[in-house]
Amino acid sequence: MSDTTVTEGKVVAFHYTLTDPDGATIDSSEGGPPMLFLAGAHNIVPGLERQLIGTSVGDSLLAHVPATEAYGELRDDLYQTVAREAFPADVDLQPGMQFMGEDEDGDPFPLWITAVTADQVTITQNHPLAGLDLSFDVTIEAIRDPSAEELAHGHPHGPGGHH
Ligand code: ZN
Repeated sequence: MSDTTVTEGKVVAFHYTLTDPDGATIDSSEGGPPMLFLAGAHNIVPGLERQLIGTSVGDSLLAHVPATEAYGELRDDLYQTVAREAFPADVDLQPGMQFMGEDEDGDPFPLWITAVTADQVTITQNHPLAGLDLSFDVTIEAIRDPSAEELAHGHPHGPGGHH
């Protein structure tokens, strides 16, 4: 019975269609493998994870997730302009491109390019979906126990997961 309900510590497979506040589709798992997450390990945005806890295989739901529980509010203080030379010359920089920065401890964090001129590049730590209230149309496909390796890594493996 324990494998029919989403509880913390279970690997959950779900199909989803993500839409923005205007109802436009941003992303969907349709046509591919279902997305996997390890419940309770923060593999997905917190507002969605919270609403999927307690659901069961075969359940469909429309989860409305406010920006604060998705990718956060847009923050004006998270933009920075850097010299074009800080990037490899042979890379065709475009707004929307993601790359990894490194903090003082050497830990990576994601950055996105928002504007490019001949000699300057504007980058931000705001996720491209920050500031948006999102809706996830979700169907729970399967629930299973994680492998020891998945538990150790804090995320599921295989199609729809990591690696
Ligand atoms: Zn792993």
